[in-house]
Amino acid sequence: MVAGPNAFICDRCIRTSHDILRKELSAIQHSEPVAGQPFPVKLVSPKALMESLDQYVVGQERAKKALAVAVYNHYKRIDSQEWQHDDDEVVIEKSNIMLIGPTGTGKTLLAQTLANLLEVPFSIVDATSLTEAGYVGDDVETILARLLHASDFNLERAERGIIYVDEIDKIARKSANVSITRDVSGEGVQQALLKILEGAVVGVPPKGGRKHPEQQLININTKNILFICGGAFEGLDRLIARRMSKSSMGFGAGVADKKAGYDPGILKFVMQDDLHEYGLIPEFIGRLPVLSSLEPLDEHALRSILVEPKNALIKQYAKLFEMDGVELEFAPESLDRVVAIALERGTGARALRSVLENVMIDIMFELPSMKGIGKCIITADTIDGTGSPTYLTEDGKKKKTA
Ligand code: ADP
Repeated sequence: MVAGPNAFICDRCIRTSHDILRKELSAIQHSEPVAGQPFPVKLVSPKALMESLDQYVVGQERAKKALAVAVYNHYKRIDSQEWQHDDDEVVIEKSNIMLIGPTGTGKTLLAQTLANLLEVPFSIVDATSLTEAGYVGDDVETILARLLHASDFNLERAERGIIYVDEIDKIARKSANVSITRDVSGEGVQQALLKILEGAVVGVPPKGGRKHPEQQLININTKNILFICGGAFEGLDRLIARRMSKSSMGFGAGVADKKAGYDPGILKFVMQDDLHEYGLIPEFIGRLPVLSSLEPLDEHALRSILVEPKNALIKQYAKLFEMDGVELEFAPESLDRVVAIALERGTGARALRSVLENVMIDIMFELPSMKGIGKCIITADTIDGTGSPTYLTEDGKKKKTA
């Protein structure tokens, strides 16, 4: 007997308890890597997901909502598979997503943020680098190899990850006519992508690259991998406008008349048929059932992007300056200038970074070797390149600069 303050325990009970603890602990430790055991994904409600997305992505409410619901259903579907019977009549289908919107409006950012929030592996591939197997370029299987890398070769994790395929519009068939030459980069790739989008067991060369007969392959089941495809689909607006003006009788009539000219805002009326007309094959479109569009970012949105998101550009620069012991401030007019220049470039929020970087490089070059600076204020002139920032000393006095 072993005596405690108020109780005793015998040697046999100690041994039995020890065995129980050992078994339980080892089950917990091995629960993730053990094959066949489900890898848990944090199931978050669409509303909560949307709220979290709001902290990183400005605007794009429609796309966020569509994504939040699609992602929630996707992971619910995975969960349901665990208790679903083979004879169950209702089988929930996969909800891969197609995001359409001008460049730099947050398509990649949305996909990436979602993956971060759900803590699942994520990889980005560029559809333009893919070709049909056997031709110069990457085989479609390399998409999966990347995801496997992103999940540190944990197959269980990889099989529940998210893949973002960028520039999906670039693999559209070049014209609606059937070509007599072989189309290895457009329709061929769409065909090759079909099976992975839908869900299949695919042999993947673990290091990427081309498959060859002697190579060892890792089998990945893509049934539970969520695919998000994104593209700018330049010219799609005209196809939509044409379809809508054709159907100018009925509810859409007024809208079509108004949207006759070029207008990226018309993308919100996109339908699967328009994508077919654009050059995607119907089977491919069918495997991306959730279709959503992103809006072009206006002045107001661009300004919010500069300052509001959790890792907004301005916050990032401020942090870098803080490490040098300097407070960084952007005068409101300076932000207006950044936005105005970025708008002219027409590459969405992407331009914000390059405009700022251009200005900040000189300052970040000089500042660390300047003595006694407590604060740096960026003015509109600084952005225009016609004046240097205002520097204040640590006690708040204006510092003369050369
Ligand atoms: P694309 O639509 O071309 O995929 P990205 O998502 O790659 O565009 O966006 C490029 C950059 O612009 C991102 O790094 C992000 O910081 C910024 N950005 C774009 N759209 C938004 C948005 N709606 N909210 C916040 N940042 C954005």
